[in-house]
Amino acid sequence: MRLSCIFAVLLSLFPCTAWSKACRWDDASLSYQGTALEQATCLLRAVGKGGTIADTEAPLPAHLAARIGQPVSVSRSALRRYLQAEGIQETSLGGGLDEPLSTTEGEPAHPALYFVIHDTSDILCTREEFPGDSDSPDASWNMAATWESSKQAHLFLTRDGAAYSPQGRTFSVPWRATKHEMTIGESTRGRFLHIENVQLRRPEVEADAPLTNAEGHCVNDRIAQRPGFTPKQMHLLALTYIAASIRAGEWMIPACHAVIDASFAGGHDDPQNFDLEAWSEAIDAVVADIERISSAAAVFNHG
Ligand SMILES: [Zn+2]
Repeated sequence: MRLSCIFAVLLSLFPCTAWSKACRWDDASLSYQGTALEQATCLLRAVGKGGTIADTEAPLPAHLAARIGQPVSVSRSALRRYLQAEGIQETSLGGGLDEPLSTTEGEPAHPALYFVIHDTSDILCTREEFPGDSDSPDASWNMAATWESSKQAHLFLTRDGAAYSPQGRTFSVPWRATKHEMTIGESTRGRFLHIENVQLRRPEVEADAPLTNAEGHCVNDRIAQRPGFTPKQMHLLALTYIAASIRAGEWMIPACHAVIDASFAGGHDDPQNFDLEAWSEAIDAVVADIERISSAAAVFNHG
């Protein structure tokens, strides 16, 4: 038996469970291969320090797995009632609930399908621990002015739980923010929604090594806050995902930026320390609150 045949037989006996670095993209359908759930298990793989990507599928929390790709049972009116009760402007979550999501330009037009989670990797050139006021509304990285004119992303979620639309962008605006989209080209514009989450970083350096290079730039941004996102950010990221999915008609496919760009040299390392389980629980909690407020309103209306 030739060596290649032996390998073929071995592979059939022990199917390869390791993932290639990149999830497989299909140009014709402008999507990754596989079902929505299969895509998510690839696209949500954990992102480690320096951008290492787990080579096994993401351990999707059961409740999140049960949603992805399925119709959304939460209605627009129920979400509106919740937002009113919470004092949240519906347009602050990537645009109004009646506005369509972005679509691609070609024929046929493909609507936004991917909900891409980023962190901003704000570098502090210091050896000291992250500052105690990192989640304060007064910290510069949590201020509207820091993000309102950014050319990146559709939405910025700050550590104190506020949402800012850069340049007034909404989820209706086709926008690209990954090397993957830039490399494949204009055909992908509109297929991905990009949500940035403010997170501080600091360099990882030897005790006696300089913190900056010859140009004065921080040598790296490898150390991230842990957990990566605050509870308020997780709550808002969950709410944003729910709002976007209601507009899509089905639960969108969440993805980590670094996984999307895994095959590109100098790719990204975000989001760091993103707790998928905590996010899934945050989605469950918001959905439960929406349903509770909605059923209370129904009882009131019939009472
Ligand atoms: Zn990113």
